[in-house]
Amino acid sequence: MDIPKDLVESCVKKRLEENQGEFASIESLMEAVFSMNVTESAPSLKIASSATTTREKLAEEIQKLRDERLCKICMEEDACATFVPCGHLACCFECGLALEVCLICRSRIQSCVRTYIS
Ligand SMILES: [Zn+2]
Ligand SMILES: [Zn+2]
Repeated sequence: MDIPKDLVESCVKKRLEENQGEFASIESLMEAVFSMNVTESAPSLKIASSATTTREKLAEEIQKLRDERLCKICMEEDACATFVPCGHLACCFECGLALEVCLICRSRIQSCVRTYIS
Protein backbone atom coordinates (compact mmCIF):
# COMPACT_ATOMS: atom_id res chain seq x y z
CA MET A 1 0.00 0.00 0.00
CA ASP A 2 1.33 3.37 -0.94
CA ILE A 3 0.51 6.25 1.37
CA PRO A 4 2.13 9.60 0.73
CA LYS A 5 4.28 10.61 3.67
CA ASP A 6 3.18 14.22 3.63
CA LEU A 7 -0.43 13.13 3.82
CA VAL A 8 0.28 11.10 6.96
CA GLU A 9 2.19 14.02 8.40
CA SER A 10 -0.56 16.53 7.75
CA CYS A 11 -3.06 14.07 9.15
CA VAL A 12 -1.12 13.71 12.39
CA LYS A 13 -0.70 17.46 12.57
CA LYS A 14 -4.42 18.01 12.06
CA ARG A 15 -5.19 15.49 14.76
CA LEU A 16 -2.85 17.26 17.18
CA GLU A 17 -4.30 20.66 16.29
CA GLU A 18 -7.77 19.37 16.98
CA ASN A 19 -6.50 18.20 20.35
CA GLN A 20 -7.65 14.66 19.91
CA GLY A 21 -4.36 13.23 21.10
CA GLU A 22 -2.10 10.76 19.39
CA PHE A 23 -3.45 7.93 17.33
CA ALA A 24 -4.15 4.89 19.47
CA SER A 25 -3.16 2.48 16.77
CA ILE A 26 -1.79 2.32 13.27
CA GLU A 27 -5.27 1.31 12.12
CA SER A 28 -6.85 4.49 13.42
CA LEU A 29 -4.09 6.50 11.81
CA MET A 30 -4.71 4.72 8.51
CA GLU A 31 -8.43 5.36 8.79
CA ALA A 32 -7.84 9.05 9.37
CA VAL A 33 -5.40 9.24 6.48
CA PHE A 34 -7.83 7.52 4.14
CA SER A 35 -10.76 9.69 5.15
CA MET A 36 -8.57 12.73 4.56
CA ASN A 37 -7.44 11.35 1.26
CA VAL A 38 -11.04 11.00 0.09
CA THR A 39 -12.35 14.31 1.35
CA GLU A 40 -9.38 16.43 0.40
CA SER A 41 -8.09 15.03 -2.84
CA ALA A 42 -11.42 14.73 -4.65
CA PRO A 43 -12.38 18.41 -4.71
CA SER A 44 -8.88 19.50 -5.67
CA LEU A 45 -9.08 17.19 -8.69
CA LYS A 46 -12.33 18.84 -9.72
CA ILE A 47 -10.78 22.29 -9.40
CA ALA A 48 -7.84 21.21 -11.51
CA SER A 49 -10.05 19.97 -14.35
CA SER A 50 -12.26 23.04 -14.34
CA ALA A 51 -9.15 25.21 -14.37
CA THR A 52 -8.05 23.44 -17.53
CA THR A 53 -11.35 24.12 -19.27
CA THR A 54 -11.21 27.74 -18.18
CA ARG A 55 -7.70 28.01 -19.56
CA GLU A 56 -8.78 26.39 -22.84
CA LYS A 57 -11.74 28.74 -23.10
CA LEU A 58 -9.46 31.67 -22.41
CA ALA A 59 -7.03 30.59 -25.13
CA GLU A 60 -9.96 30.25 -27.53
CA GLU A 61 -11.21 33.69 -26.56
CA ILE A 62 -7.78 35.21 -27.07
CA GLN A 63 -7.49 33.56 -30.48
CA LYS A 64 -10.91 34.92 -31.41
CA LEU A 65 -9.97 38.41 -30.30
CA ARG A 66 -6.75 38.17 -32.28
CA ASP A 67 -8.65 37.16 -35.41
CA GLU A 68 -11.08 40.01 -34.90
CA ARG A 69 -8.20 42.42 -34.52
CA LEU A 70 -6.51 41.30 -37.71
CA CYS A 71 -6.58 43.53 -40.76
CA LYS A 72 -9.48 42.37 -42.94
CA ILE A 73 -7.51 43.15 -46.09
CA CYS A 74 -4.00 41.77 -45.67
CA MET A 75 -4.84 39.46 -42.71
CA GLU A 76 -1.31 39.94 -41.47
CA GLU A 77 -1.18 43.13 -39.45
CA ASP A 78 -3.37 44.07 -36.52
CA ALA A 79 -6.18 46.40 -37.48
CA CYS A 80 -5.18 49.83 -36.27
CA ALA A 81 -6.70 52.31 -38.70
CA THR A 82 -9.93 53.95 -37.61
CA PHE A 83 -11.84 55.63 -40.41
CA VAL A 84 -13.19 59.10 -39.94
CA PRO A 85 -16.05 59.91 -39.86
CA CYS A 86 -17.68 56.44 -39.71
CA GLY A 87 -15.37 55.20 -36.96
CA HIS A 88 -14.89 51.66 -38.23
CA LEU A 89 -11.70 49.85 -37.29
CA ALA A 90 -11.14 47.01 -39.72
CA CYS A 91 -7.71 47.16 -41.28
CA CYS A 92 -4.09 48.07 -40.68
CA PHE A 93 -2.83 51.56 -41.26
CA GLU A 94 -1.07 50.75 -44.54
CA CYS A 95 -4.18 49.13 -46.03
CA GLY A 96 -6.39 51.87 -44.63
CA LEU A 97 -4.37 54.55 -46.43
CA ALA A 98 -5.06 52.87 -49.76
CA LEU A 99 -8.81 52.81 -49.24
CA GLU A 100 -11.19 55.53 -50.34
CA VAL A 101 -14.35 54.06 -48.89
CA CYS A 102 -14.84 52.15 -45.64
CA LEU A 103 -14.83 48.43 -46.32
CA ILE A 104 -17.59 47.89 -43.78
CA CYS A 105 -20.13 50.63 -44.39
CA ARG A 106 -18.85 51.95 -47.72
CA SER A 107 -18.95 55.53 -46.55
CA ARG A 108 -16.31 57.89 -47.84
CA ILE A 109 -13.17 58.03 -45.71
CA GLN A 110 -12.13 61.57 -44.89
CA SER A 111 -9.14 60.53 -42.84
CA CYS A 112 -7.56 57.53 -41.28
CA VAL A 113 -6.53 57.61 -37.61
CA ARG A 114 -3.88 55.28 -36.27
CA THR A 115 -5.36 53.55 -33.26
CA TYR A 116 -3.53 51.62 -30.57
CA ILE A 117 -5.19 48.81 -28.70
CA SER A 118 -3.48 48.28 -25.39
ZN1 LIG B 1 -3.53 45.32 -43.78
ZN1 LIG C 1 -17.42 52.47 -41.90
